Amino acid sequence: IGANLARIAAAYPDRDALVECATGRRWTYAEFDAAASELARGLLAADVAKGDRVGIWSPNCAEWILVQYAAAKVGAILVNLNPAYRDHEIRFTLKQSGTSLLFAATQVKTSDYVAMVNAVREDCPDLQDVVFIGTPGWTAFVERGATVPASVLAERESRLHPDDPVDIQYTSGTTGFPKGATLSHRNVLGNGYLVAEVQGWTQEDRVCLPVPLYHCFGMVMGNLGATSHGSCMVLPGQLFDPADTLRAVSAERCTVLYGVPTMFIAELALLEKSPGVYDLSTLRTGVMAGSPCPVEVMKRVIGEMGMTDVTIAYGMTETSPVSTQTRRDDSLQRRVATVGRVHPHVEIKIVDPDTGTTLGADEPGELCTRGYSVMLGYWSEPERTAEAVDADGWMHTGDLAQMDADGYVAIVGRIKDMVIRGGENVYPREVEEFLYSHPDVEDVQVIGVPDTKYGEELMAWIRLRPGAQPLSAEDVREFCAGRLAHYKIPRYVHLVDGFPMTVTGKVRKVEMREQALEILR
Ligand code: ATP
Ligand code: MG
Repeated sequence: IGANLARIAAAYPDRDALVECATGRRWTYAEFDAAASELARGLLAADVAKGDRVGIWSPNCAEWILVQYAAAKVGAILVNLNPAYRDHEIRFTLKQSGTSLLFAATQVKTSDYVAMVNAVREDCPDLQDVVFIGTPGWTAFVERGATVPASVLAERESRLHPDDPVDIQYTSGTTGFPKGATLSHRNVLGNGYLVAEVQGWTQEDRVCLPVPLYHCFGMVMGNLGATSHGSCMVLPGQLFDPADTLRAVSAERCTVLYGVPTMFIAELALLEKSPGVYDLSTLRTGVMAGSPCPVEVMKRVIGEMGMTDVTIAYGMTETSPVSTQTRRDDSLQRRVATVGRVHPHVEIKIVDPDTGTTLGADEPGELCTRGYSVMLGYWSEPERTAEAVDADGWMHTGDLAQMDADGYVAIVGRIKDMVIRGGENVYPREVEEFLYSHPDVEDVQVIGVPDTKYGEELMAWIRLRPGAQPLSAEDVREFCAGRLAHYKIPRYVHLVDGFPMTVTGKVRKVEMREQALEILR
């Protein structure tokens, strides 16, 4: 990763590498590589050894990316800590990863990272030092690097190998407690490079990243894609905000925009509310990924945001992350309704989750992935690794998918979210797609809730479009009648302003199911 950045900095020294919109700070590639090397020498001055774990706990900011590259340059393993973690999770992940040096934010909105770090520090015996970003402690840490000759850094870099671990990336925690996927330089740089290749990035591209850096969507598909192509990374803000994002696209003339579906939904709603305010004419491509991408939303992103070449990607933290992606020359139908075909240098297969037998075209089953992108393993959890990655190297994703005869993959849903109503399998995704076509529905999520008669019943949580009249369960049933098989029609409707979410913008259906029990009581 370090050598790749140096190569790009030599090729495009004067091009923009990074823009932080919140502060107006910007770096060219020459400046960015120099700043990363300076911080890397700071890490050497602090005696960070190859393989040591260096944590980063902060919402998006330029320093996040500098820490990422500095750690990679000295062969340390970056530990990405979700900025939404609180005492319980931060204590667990710092201990579990054996993080010895932590970079942390100070205060962002209501999150006081200093207080939270102090509250758990005593419980983390491996944690020797904490540097708070932007404080005099940070400046002193960087300045100490100047005492370390550049040749010492060069010597360290010469001892690194592409298969060395470079990152412990905790999963989103959508289905339970996060797991620490350990990824190598080859895993993440290879994937970042290929994701950008599929979108045809060059040094002319300017990539808007409202997605969290702590997650592979930001740090692999975003900034490793950019730094392997000489493209510019644009950070619209610390935490996602649709207005900041669209303002950044306009002001920085971005050509690429990333987001999970809920981010695009929020941006589309804002565009509708304030026509003519934002200039998105430079946008060309981008990626929607992370959770099911509704066909209607994809169509609007192409039509109303002008992202004619937008792609959908599918993947997971454990596979660095991307395994399939749509391509520019796929038909429009496939570009809005599938997650594309398998990525270069990766294999996929669909298997019967019970027997492991490979299934034929159009048969839904568990998607498995194999290739350079499969993680080294879950950090210090060999048993969980063995459950996820089989002896032949296949990662069992826990996602249900089907592949057509031409190799296009459609994600049906997570195995854990599937609902069994009266013996019939219902994939909430299908019902959600259908309900999106209701003119008053802005966003919708469907879950299964326990039912004495049918085992499970469906419940739809609906966020209405502004100004829409409230929808009752009856209204929804009427809308579905005759158009959706009876067992797929939601029995309950619950109107909401929002959904329980992870920072990566995924809906936590586990939490919805817990809340639903209260609602139905
Ligand atoms: P955890 O594993 O901790 O429960 P998580 O699985 O959400 O959390 P990630 O690794 O961030 O953590 O997300 C990967 C998952 O996101 C995939 O397994 C899949 O369920 C979902 N996903 C990603 N991209 C898509 C997509 N394009 N369409 C549908 N689902 C997707
Ligand atoms: Mg997962």
